[in-house]
Amino acid sequence: MKAQIVVLPGDGIGPEVTGEAVGVLRLIADRCGHEFTFVEHLIGGCSIDCYGTALSDGALEACKRSQGVLLGAVGGPRWDNPSADVRPEQGLLALRKELKVYANLRPVKAHPEMLETSPLRRERVEGVDLLVVRELTGGLYFGRPQGREKVDGGVRAVDTMEYFDYEIRRVVELAFRLARGRRRKVTSVDKANVLETSRLWRSTAVEAARGFPDVKLEHMLVDTAAMRLITAAAGFDVLVTENMFGDILTDEASVLTGSIGMLPSASIGDGGPGVFEPIHGSAPDIAGKGLANPIGTILSAALLLRYSLGLEGEAAMIEGAVARALHEGARTADVGGSLSTSAMTAEVVRHLTAHNKN
Ligand code: NAD
Repeated sequence: MKAQIVVLPGDGIGPEVTGEAVGVLRLIADRCGHEFTFVEHLIGGCSIDCYGTALSDGALEACKRSQGVLLGAVGGPRWDNPSADVRPEQGLLALRKELKVYANLRPVKAHPEMLETSPLRRERVEGVDLLVVRELTGGLYFGRPQGREKVDGGVRAVDTMEYFDYEIRRVVELAFRLARGRRRKVTSVDKANVLETSRLWRSTAVEAARGFPDVKLEHMLVDTAAMRLITAAAGFDVLVTENMFGDILTDEASVLTGSIGMLPSASIGDGGPGVFEPIHGSAPDIAGKGLANPIGTILSAALLLRYSLGLEGEAAMIEGAVARALHEGARTADVGGSLSTSAMTAEVVRHLTAHNKN
């Protein structure tokens, strides 16, 4: 297969971890007879410094023409000013909107050999293998009008939460399709006892479920879901929820398995290139020191192969190599080891080559 992949390393540790993941993708291409072309562009703070905008038109066009986008992370102390007109995260939001990636997927799986790095007791994390599907382009984060005004001697701030039924349906249906490849259970998370948007969410989920009689649907209030993620996460298969609930629940879910450096994410829509990135930020405290854990980005590259290129076997090869490297004790400092970024990747590569000799 021929594919053009845009790499947006971004800021901080972004270039370090994307560099490692590209190396793994090159190896996969080599061994499996694919032709991947990599085109690099700026995003975030480095793009602001160079072009005055967090994502240039040229970078965006290249992403639109590609088959998939591999992203590092954006931001850092130099640009961390929430009231600045131009901010690094605007590049991420623009990219998601322009590529119409309305669903963010975050798989969270407890590797048996990593259970000791979880802040929770072993028995609470054992067997966790869940996928959070977060609606990404609607809800409170995109509501209008937004604003502040002085009213009656106080300051009033307004945000609005808005959802159309078709925005809900497409993401819930995606969750059902993904559940078919897993344990066939979808938990739809809402706050239907309070919010009208959540009542629409729930009734739309019920309608969507009719097309998937082989998948079990359950509804759960977001507060209960937050609790269950800590007390009984192994009971979840696929969770699907709106933008802000998903933002919070995915961060909560990410700590179940220990380090933020381990987890990948995929943002996808209906066809077109997806955006694949680790869930962590630019980690300015460790940037340039060779300490960054590359696993979240390497696993994001695997998701790119699975969801954008349809290369399930190749994706599984990477995931298997990561699991075997961890099983043999390969660890970066954030998870109690001493390997550098490149040494950790070398371990993954060693298992990839040893296990898949051609
Ligand atoms: P962060 O995720 O960058 O770092 C949090 C902590 O986790 C730090 O101690 C860091 O060293 C560690 N860490 C993160 N990734 C790691 C890895 N791969 N290996 C080892 N350790 C790792 O979050 P933060 O410190 O809150 O934010 C730093 C900057 O990143 C800010 O400017 C923030 O706006 C930005 N940010 C960007 C994204 C993104 O690009 N999607 C997401 C979150 C934060």
